[in-house]
Amino acid sequence: MPPIKTYCIIGDPVQHSLSPIMQNSAFFALGIKSSYFSFRVPSTDLKESIESLRSIGIAGFNVTVPHKISILKYLDKLDQTAFKTNAVNTVKNDEGILIGYNTDLYGFIQPLYERKVKFKGIKVLIIGAGGAAYAIITALSYEKGLSEVIVVNRSSDNASKLVQHGLKLGLNCHRENFNNLSTFTLRSDLIINATSIGLNDETSPVDQDYIKPNSIVYDIVYKPVYTDLLRKARKANATVVFGYEMLIAQGAQAFKIWTGLDAPVDAMKKALFGIFGEPT
Ligand code: NDP
Repeated sequence: MPPIKTYCIIGDPVQHSLSPIMQNSAFFALGIKSSYFSFRVPSTDLKESIESLRSIGIAGFNVTVPHKISILKYLDKLDQTAFKTNAVNTVKNDEGILIGYNTDLYGFIQPLYERKVKFKGIKVLIIGAGGAAYAIITALSYEKGLSEVIVVNRSSDNASKLVQHGLKLGLNCHRENFNNLSTFTLRSDLIINATSIGLNDETSPVDQDYIKPNSIVYDIVYKPVYTDLLRKARKANATVVFGYEMLIAQGAQAFKIWTGLDAPVDAMKKALFGIFGEPT
């Protein structure tokens, strides 16, 4: 019989994480005898916690706020996705070697691939410049021929750092003022909210009248499912992309890295949405 493997997520806070329910439902659906837990790890305990996970032979783990960057120095190897983003959200224990990955790249881009988005020539607006925005801009750098990537963020310093990252990756990238948001939403083909605005049902700073019809509006906030921004996007006849789609896709990619198997995405969705199914 294959050994029972254990996986987890570490972060602080972590109790809100939906990864345990998604990953355990995936193991169950495929009849894999593995378990996935969540552990609150304060920043002061990160080094010891990684050593503990190593010594108990953890098979793999996810990493969330605030450890996605600080964990880099405790890992043995980085995959290209982690190296290019300079952040890790997934670790595989390969016979004692801890390898870092960033599945947020795949998580972000996969819902756009599913919609058969053509990237050549499009104008992209990223609102936000936190950890998730780095994964997003790195994922976009793999797409050829983007016309421009505009970054708008509350803190202009953080926006400038993200722009530097985008430029290094070869994107035609620049920063604009948060106060002129409407000017840039109106000329964008793909608008991405990568801030935490919406998490507490706040009103989005994006004005519905300044969303182009037939543009794509992607809100990576996944709870609530329908954020104010996505409601406005629907009314403006834009295509909406939900944050939960990224959440599931990044989890599915982590599952594949750990098990070598395609994740049972429908089972993961069912675990999140129950008998009522996926929202439309
Ligand atoms: P960070 O804390 O690293 O960054 C937060 C970002 O939001 C910064 O750009 C910050 O601006 C901005 N921000 C926060 N509050 C406000 C506000 N009131 N007004 C304007 N801007 C604000 O978080 P992450 O990048 O890790 O995550 C961002 C969001 O994305 C979270 O809600 C998270 O849950 C979600 N997420 C979703 C994922 C998914 O799979 N769907 C994956 C990862 C994250 P400033 O720089 O000025 O502080």
